[in-house]
Amino acid sequence: MLPPIEFQKPLISAEQLEARVASLAEEIRADYAEAVLPISVIVVLKGACFFAIDLLKKLDLPCRMDFLQASSYSGMGSTGEVRLHSDITLPVAGTDVLLIEDIVDTGLTASWLAQHLTSHRPATVRLCTLLDKPSARRIAVRIDYIGFTVPEAFVLGYGLDYDEGYRNLPAIYTVG
Ligand code: 5GP
Repeated sequence: MLPPIEFQKPLISAEQLEARVASLAEEIRADYAEAVLPISVIVVLKGACFFAIDLLKKLDLPCRMDFLQASSYSGMGSTGEVRLHSDITLPVAGTDVLLIEDIVDTGLTASWLAQHLTSHRPATVRLCTLLDKPSARRIAVRIDYIGFTVPEAFVLGYGLDYDEGYRNLPAIYTVG
């Protein structure tokens, strides 16, 4: 059973998401014009899936794609500890890596993953996140592309879950 939630007006509508994803794809394409192609796009499961697929469909660049799964959240709060559940299998050494996250909150996961990918000896690692929640930051992390900055609240929808549910909502909502 999913926890019952009453949804009000979305924080970010499906139309806003679509428009921002298109402009982000354009920014990224322009920045990688001189890159060693194809770039390696690494998507953090499961939350960044919807965003990454929409972004890549709009990204006019040769790229390869892989996934890894990490978690640091339980329910609606950070555990403070990052766990890697599955790693990439794509060799990324010497390539330009674009890491795609759903949200940077405390910054622990993104910073841990960027370091982890660096150990695979890529040419560069850049971070793209759909959402940034800077008020919750516990560790400094360099973010190259941010879709939207959100306030200190738990958000869900468009890939982001609450107890594994609600990922398939087409817009982003706040809870609590
Ligand atoms: P961080 O390590 O930056 O604290 O958190 C990263 C992960 O925690 C995100 O990739 C996401 O899975 C989860 N997370 C952080 N804030 C939220 C939130 O507001 N809503 C949801 N659904 N997940 C969140």
